[in-house]
Amino acid sequence: MKFDHQPADILERLSALREADAPTHGGRVLSYVYDSGLAELDELAASAIRAVQPVNGLDPTTFTSVAVMEREVLGFARDLLGGDEDVVGTVTTGGTESCLLAVKTARDVWRGSGSSARTGTPRLLAPVTVHAAFQKAVHYFGLELDLVPVGPGGDVAASDLIARMGDDVALVVVSAPSYAHAAMDPVVEVAAAAAERGIACHVDACIGGWVLPFWEDVEPWNFEVPGVTSISADLHKFGYSPKGASVILQRGRDRQRTQYFATTQWPGYPIVNPTILGSKSAGPLAAAWAIIHALGTNGLAELSQSCARSTRSLRDVIGGIEGLRVVGNPVGPLLAIATDESVAPERRVDAHHWADQVREHGFLLQLQPSLVQSDGSVLPATTHLTITPVTANVIDELSAALVAAADEVRGVAPISAEALLATLPAEALAALGNPDAAPLDSATAAGLLGALGLGAATEGLPERMAPLLALIAAMPAPLTERLLIELLARLIEPEA
Ligand SMILES: *Cc1c(COP(=O)(O)O)cnc(C)c1O
Repeated sequence: MKFDHQPADILERLSALREADAPTHGGRVLSYVYDSGLAELDELAASAIRAVQPVNGLDPTTFTSVAVMEREVLGFARDLLGGDEDVVGTVTTGGTESCLLAVKTARDVWRGSGSSARTGTPRLLAPVTVHAAFQKAVHYFGLELDLVPVGPGGDVAASDLIARMGDDVALVVVSAPSYAHAAMDPVVEVAAAAAERGIACHVDACIGGWVLPFWEDVEPWNFEVPGVTSISADLHKFGYSPKGASVILQRGRDRQRTQYFATTQWPGYPIVNPTILGSKSAGPLAAAWAIIHALGTNGLAELSQSCARSTRSLRDVIGGIEGLRVVGNPVGPLLAIATDESVAPERRVDAHHWADQVREHGFLLQLQPSLVQSDGSVLPATTHLTITPVTANVIDELSAALVAAADEVRGVAPISAEALLATLPAEALAALGNPDAAPLDSATAAGLLGALGLGAATEGLPERMAPLLALIAAMPAPLTERLLIELLARLIEPEA
């Protein structure tokens, strides 16, 4: 066969493209990537992926290696998360899929239970800090979303959740911990109250599941807690697997069977699976399987202890920076940092200016917008850090960067949403006056993005993110969401 392009040329182009990516290794990006710092683990994962490259993970009866690997990963996860033999589960492609399946299962159990099958719209109850994957689940599966306001530290009062429990609640979700603030939700109280009322309780341990078992001073949150009916835990976070692997564990075989979809009613092969995808790669499963076998609980514990040391040290460093503060009582290797408004304005460090400035020093932190809760209270804008084992290798340089960046932007006023809005062109302001953005067509949305200076999305994100985050906070959410859809959609449109 004569190829259009030679493999070597194609790969050369790919490596050039990869050069432009944020660095996935070395501890310079403190979100999205979970680097064990162990090159041999990456090699092992790559070899495992290669070994199953042609396998179709759809059918574990045809490709029996898939069944063996999945069984072993689930067994490991079940032991780690305090489950007994009544806990069963599935390996999924990621946290979002695990969360979607928890919601789908709970919805179907709710519908099917009771003396007469329930009708109407079931409700999903959770603190407002619950991961956005649950908003997506509710959107996909037709539930009503009931988000309960949290305190300034991202902490929810169990009584606020319990007060809203009712017959129409199909699922209450708590996090161990939450992504945005690393807040540990009151799992024991909420699960007990849910169990009393026959309501399912999911613990979203997507980020904590593979690290909290080795963390000190953590309130009970796993299957040892009565009333917990399911747990999600991402292998591709603190299980150090390449992207595409998570587990959803369910208490009770009958509950878990509801997760499955099966049909023989078409002229093709019977479809029977517990996940959202059909044909799928077995690569992430094989990589995750190989990595947990290599690390075992001892290896995971050692990596977690490294994360804990780095987290403690960064907490001290940031706690010592005048003008910034650590939000709430974070549990696990993540921190949310906000502006310390208890000091005079000229001594404050705006959390978003700080993040942009830290980037100048070679580290990428994640900006999180402020949020107005349903009771009118406001959760402040924060900057997020996820700490991984590799953080230890750069801890001194990182700490110095965090301190220096704060010194460089101390006293710089936060970007004023009002001032920013005043600079917008007339057409943008007109759209803002009409927050019902649904009818916005693609061309109009693109025009607005251009007017906001975000037209050339193929150039990547702007150097400084603080103005963008201020804009996101200032504009009506439906309009922002519509514009972001346009931005992302145009990013991958073939060139004209
Ligand atoms: C990351 C995360 C998710 C979603 O996981 P993805 O793997 O990104 O789909 C859900 N919940 C929490 C708490 C998370 O940290």
